[in-house]
Amino acid sequence: MKMPPFDYACPATLPEAVALLAAHDGDAKVLAGGQSLIPILAFRLAAPKLLVDLRKLTDLRAIKITPDGVALGAMVRWCDIEGDARLRTAHPLLIAAVAHVAHYQIRNRGTVGGSMAHADPAAEMPGIALTCEAEVVVMGKAGMRTIKAADFFQGALTTALTVDEIIVEIRLPGWPAGRRWGFQEFARRRGDFALAAAALFYDMDTSGRASNAHVGVIGVADRPLRLRSVEAVLNGAAVDTATIAKAEAATTAAIDPDSDIHASGGYRKALAGTMVERALKMAAEQTP
Ligand SMILES: Cc1cc2nc3c(=O)[nH]c(=O)nc-3n(C[C@H](O)[C@H](O)[C@H](O)COP(=O)(O)OP(=O)(O)OC[C@H]3O[C@@H](n4cnc5c(N)ncnc54)[C@H](O)[C@@H]3O)c2cc1C
Repeated sequence: MKMPPFDYACPATLPEAVALLAAHDGDAKVLAGGQSLIPILAFRLAAPKLLVDLRKLTDLRAIKITPDGVALGAMVRWCDIEGDARLRTAHPLLIAAVAHVAHYQIRNRGTVGGSMAHADPAAEMPGIALTCEAEVVVMGKAGMRTIKAADFFQGALTTALTVDEIIVEIRLPGWPAGRRWGFQEFARRRGDFALAAAALFYDMDTSGRASNAHVGVIGVADRPLRLRSVEAVLNGAAVDTATIAKAEAATTAAIDPDSDIHASGGYRKALAGTMVERALKMAAEQTP
């Protein structure tokens, strides 16, 4: 299908891009990789008057790694993450999750900022951002603000962004050496959106027990979920077969996915439990 007609702008600066969005008061959309927006236009699910292309904003393409963590510019693509060897130690959970995003061609164009703004409940990056307590730095006509990932996702394809705001950067907190982590996803075909996925990490105290557990699931609600009840099972426990079984049971007890054309709610619920189980086994097998 052909897209509806639109005007096109390709500003050279972020303030210029924000000004264009603000002037159109909700009738303009940012264009990043176009991998979600272009199909949306083709299906006539949106018909903005103006597309504001961010491709000239090269500052938004940086991946910054410091002791405080990893800052991903909004225009960082999946293939940029995949190709950055520093991230294998700076954020192995991110690398593992991004490996499941889409197919080769899409990975060469799709961006971190686009995925966060699109807020698909089955997308990997929002799940990682929530699980890792990321912060989303945005700029709008009122200036810059920082939104916690937990406050950013407000429902399927719905975020805390206002119509004039552009995501600038996603900040993931620092990743200590020796942290245990796991990522597991089940999709019909490699690269499809997840039917369910689990992202998790924990640190080990000196007695070999888990602390600071963070557990997130993807594809089982209208947004990614962090499962505090599962984290409570893990914190203070040795991550052995019995604890993993309890964590799996706590996962299925904590979620109530809807049925859709891809899977029944019951299937997704069981699948999420299995993903948490497998991710914990993966974490437990890691050598520090
Ligand atoms: C066949 C197919 C399979 C896919 N599979 C997966 C998958 O398995 N997992 C997954 O996570 N994704 C998947 N995707 C989506 C892909 O990852 C997209 O890259 C991503 O969702 C959107 O990124 P984009 O840069 O293409 O954004 P665009 O399509 O350009 O924009 C998407 C939305 O975000 C807004 N936006 C973009 N950038 C910003 C910004 N900086 N600030 C504010 N708003 C912004 C746009 O206005 C638009 O509303 C798939 C896509 C396709 C076509």
